[in-house]
Amino acid sequence: MLAMNYRGPQRVRIDHKPIPEILHPQDAIVKVTRSCICGSDLHLYNGNVPDTRVGMTFGHEFIGIVEEIGSDVQKLKVGDHVIVPFNISCGKCAFCKQGLYGNCHESNPQATAVGGIFGYSHTAGGYDGGQAEYVRVPYADVGPTVIPPGMDLDDAVLLTDVVPTGYQAAEMGGIQPGDTVVVFGAGPVGIMAARCSWLFGAGRVIVLDHIDYRLEFVKNYANCEAYNFKEDMNDPVVFIKKTTDWMGADVCIDAVGAEAAGNAMQTITGRKMLLQAGSATAVHWAINSVKKGGIVSIVGVYGPTDNLVPIGNVVNKGLTIRANQASVKRLLPRLISHVQNGILNPKALITHRVPLEEVSDAYRIFSDKLDNCIKPVLIP
Ligand code: NAD
Ligand code: ZN
Repeated sequence: MLAMNYRGPQRVRIDHKPIPEILHPQDAIVKVTRSCICGSDLHLYNGNVPDTRVGMTFGHEFIGIVEEIGSDVQKLKVGDHVIVPFNISCGKCAFCKQGLYGNCHESNPQATAVGGIFGYSHTAGGYDGGQAEYVRVPYADVGPTVIPPGMDLDDAVLLTDVVPTGYQAAEMGGIQPGDTVVVFGAGPVGIMAARCSWLFGAGRVIVLDHIDYRLEFVKNYANCEAYNFKEDMNDPVVFIKKTTDWMGADVCIDAVGAEAAGNAMQTITGRKMLLQAGSATAVHWAINSVKKGGIVSIVGVYGPTDNLVPIGNVVNKGLTIRANQASVKRLLPRLISHVQNGILNPKALITHRVPLEEVSDAYRIFSDKLDNCIKPVLIP
């Protein structure tokens, strides 16, 4: 089969790989029909996630048709067209039972935190992903959900990650009616977080980025304010304070993660750590511009486990920090109905439909923000 193949930082190519096989009675083999590239893939692409091995196939946002099932699979049948959550969840461990499907213990028992994720390095279990013609889906009775009749496949594929992550970013913000919410990042996740903030009763939603076409997009799509932090202000923290009567935002959402403003990997005391250039990163801005007692919701991904944050300000301001990988399975029923009812219209984010064979071009376009790219989808 054809599959994306990681060759090292900023080098991906299309290759032939064997079609995956059932390795466990609860597995299914899914024939991919749509597979997106995510901002999370850019952390891998740029070599910022530890233990990302050459030869891995990325891709955690995919839908497809069940081709084969293991002997223990009961809920799926061959031919079902399914939404596959990006998290791999056993459904039975203590964390899955709490609804923490992104922190499943069984799917990635060695890790200290994250559960298994498709195509997301060996720190997330070493599973190959869906930027390929076929993918092995473990615990097939737990995560995969049949696409409701009539749902557009472009909407369906965004339910694997972008919609639940944006929604959970807003949910973790604990938004109260009338709150001012600031979202850092106008990528697909920030765009969806801004749109979802209204569902929780926000009174004002402000998005910051430095890519003008994305700011234009989010302004229309999420009906919010949007500013270029390089052109419209000197200091984002002062800007946010000033526009909130010097109180600070009620809720700040980090939808940027590790790529922000010149991060660099360095080895300190034998461990790889992410060093941040000055304070010019989204999470710093979020912590420093939220009000005292406010909430900072972080969905941006920080590859290495150790990163430097202004923890003193967290303590002195009495902040609540909430963060996680999205719990896709928990949110899917609610979000499927939001899409069916027209409350959310995720497919509007898809700007590029690219044949799987052209995966390396798609990475370059998305990574370099070329051609007004918001979200590329690969079609095998
Ligand atoms: P993306 O790379 O397309 O978008 C990130 C945006 O942030 C870009 O438009 C960039 O210009 C902007 N940006 C960079 N530095 C900034 C700064 N200092 N302040 C404000 N904006 C800044 O990525 P995406 O697909 O939208 O994903 C966003 C983040 O969410 C990534 O870190 C990704 O890994 C993470 N993510 C997390 C989950 C989860 O479950 N927690 C799921 C999906 C994605
Ligand atoms: Zn993703």
